[in-house]
Amino acid sequence: MSRPEVLLDIRGLHAGYGEVEIVHGLDLRVHAGEVVALLGPNGAGKTTTLRTVSALLPLLAGEVDVLSVSLRPRVRGTRGVGPTVVARAGVAHVPEDRGLFFGLTGREHLRLAARRGDHAAVDEVLAAMPHLAAVVDRKAGLMSGGEQQMLAIARALVARPRLVMLDELSLGLAPIVVQQLLPLVRGLAREHDLGVLLVEQYVTAALAVADRAHVLFNGRVVLTGEAAALLGDQDRIARSYLGLAE
Ligand code: ATP
Repeated sequence: MSRPEVLLDIRGLHAGYGEVEIVHGLDLRVHAGEVVALLGPNGAGKTTTLRTVSALLPLLAGEVDVLSVSLRPRVRGTRGVGPTVVARAGVAHVPEDRGLFFGLTGREHLRLAARRGDHAAVDEVLAAMPHLAAVVDRKAGLMSGGEQQMLAIARALVARPRLVMLDELSLGLAPIVVQQLLPLVRGLAREHDLGVLLVEQYVTAALAVADRAHVLFNGRVVLTGEAAALLGDQDRIARSYLGLAE
């Protein structure tokens, strides 16, 4: 059997804001159909990593190949690849703040995000998310936190991406809602052969659905492994959150 396609290949990524480097040499791969969790304490550099892959931040050093796009450190006087190019290549990024328009209904969000003429995408995504389908004609501002998060995921999916990056799906949600949402993401990855890069604070729930995980601490990976093995070794996870390497 051939190995699944590599959708995201990050080699030695250094990233940050202006002169301030936050992530120092990250290696990470996501294959088709795979969920990879990027874990770590507050301020570790998880969001910075996702923003760099989306080309919202420039790559300071290293190489990122994401679908058909190659990101390289910008050479002075040239224009680097921008976020629109990455998005058009098939990357969907769901940011921490969800980025919804409270005055628009759920369905309006989905229609705006679908590729032109691809009406079937909205129906297919709603069929996979019956809870969202029941409230999709409400304005986003009137939806619950969990419903808004489902809408943010659905909006990412209607564009038929190959790679989805989810930044703290669980933010502000009750654990029970997170425990429903994460398996949904797992199922979607398997069904559509999507790659998912999942940034999450809710470690146990993330490991329960992920294939592999990396723990970042102060911009460096301090623990990496198969999610199932890490789930059974909470001590190692706890030590990694204190920055104690293996
Ligand atoms: P959290 O789980 O708290 O969201 P994170 O791992 O996603 O944390 P990042 O958001 O990547 O962490 O932030 C890493 C570091 O980068 C933090 O120290 C933060 O203060 C800094 N940082 C974030 N955004 C900016 C910015 N716009 N300008 C300068 N520094 C920033």
